[in-house]
Amino acid sequence: MTTISNRLQDILATIQSAEANSAYQQRVQLLAVSKAQPASAIREAYAAGQTIFGENYSQEALEKQKQLMDLVIEWHFIGPIQSNKTQIIAQNFSWVHSVDRLKIAQRLNEARASIKTPLNVCIQVNVSNEDTKSGVLPEQLEALAEAIEPLPNLKLRGLMAIPAPTADTTQQIAQFKQVRECYDALISRGFALDTLSIGMSNDYETAISQGATIVRIGSALFGARAPAKNTALSTSNNI
Ligand SMILES: *Cc1c(COP(=O)(O)O)cnc(C)c1O
Repeated sequence: MTTISNRLQDILATIQSAEANSAYQQRVQLLAVSKAQPASAIREAYAAGQTIFGENYSQEALEKQKQLMDLVIEWHFIGPIQSNKTQIIAQNFSWVHSVDRLKIAQRLNEARASIKTPLNVCIQVNVSNEDTKSGVLPEQLEALAEAIEPLPNLKLRGLMAIPAPTADTTQQIAQFKQVRECYDALISRGFALDTLSIGMSNDYETAISQGATIVRIGSALFGARAPAKNTALSTSNNI
């Protein structure tokens, strides 16, 4: 039987060889995406050595965090952010990958004031994915980065993107290249970024070849998820 531990070792080995073949000479971190997985699955991955986990829904995450208080986990929030959830998110996560508007960044900044360490944030960029309305358009990226940079309780670390899913490697490369160009452009404008959060179960090797420093992997590690409640009636439940 394939266990979470077996799959974790396979994924880490794949990441390592993709890293070795990458022209960017970057270090790559695995973010285990545990949405729709029970706390027991997180515990299993943790026992196998994984300590960084990503969640998409704040309430679901909070419940699991309560059950896993005995573990030293670094939690990353990667889902769409509603304004009324900014407090919960700012106070219960170390990282947020999905900041795409100033109002949300300002609310996260305010809610983080009571915590000593700043909240690490990535701006989500919308490249070529018509399916998701999330993410700032590349042409609006620099203005948003400039507005976030001075917020004292946030630390702008880089960019996140969820390109349109495709099995075509050429297409994957083209999409990741766009994100990489946005990232390089910000760095050349003086932003001190170190994080490119791209790549999921089906395309993380390609993402690493294009410079990913964090890959966000769910189903390849935990197995298939039950469809999310709000997409249960949709014909496509593969996201
Ligand atoms: C669900 C999700 C992932 C993981 O997707 P898999 O294809 O299961 O690896 C990564 N990033 C985000 C933002 C997600 O919502």
